[in-house]
Amino acid sequence: MTRKAVFPGSFDPVTSGHMHIIKSGLLVFDEIIIAIGQNSNKQGYFSLEQRMSWLKSLYADEPRISVETYTGLTVSFCRERGAGFILRGLRSAADFEYESVIAQTNRTLAPEVETVFILTDPQFAHISSTIVKEVLKHGGDISSMVPSVVVKPVD
Ligand code: ADP
Repeated sequence: MTRKAVFPGSFDPVTSGHMHIIKSGLLVFDEIIIAIGQNSNKQGYFSLEQRMSWLKSLYADEPRISVETYTGLTVSFCRERGAGFILRGLRSAADFEYESVIAQTNRTLAPEVETVFILTDPQFAHISSTIVKEVLKHGGDISSMVPSVVVKPVD
């Protein structure tokens, strides 16, 4: 049976931390769908098209990875795609607090979909899309936090 996981997130923008989770996820899963959520409460800084194109170019040569956008519940998207797993990354105890509520809710909604957490490598533990955007807004160098495709955004 194919072990298919959905890796949901905002990816606004994709960071080296996300990429580490995806790389580790490929050791566990046969297929990963990177799913960019269109959240009505969370307006993106970068356009969906931009976020999607960065992810697609990063994984163009990896047939086990696909990139999609979705709206609505993550578990509904998993069911539509026949994915039995949700992949999420953990950086800290604060992440765990936040993620465990979401994972328990998802389990209630869809008991057949298992959430799997992968712990980040310490070198990426301080990286978040929010921090990247802050540094970028103030003209700082983000090259240590994001893949090179993101470093020179074409807006
Ligand atoms: P969301 O808005 O759903 O939190 P993000 O794009 O911020 O979307 O994060 C998607 C997933 O990637 C989450 O599970 C988050 O914990 C994980 N993640 C983000 N940054 C890192 C990092 N530096 N190391 C490991 N996991 C990370």
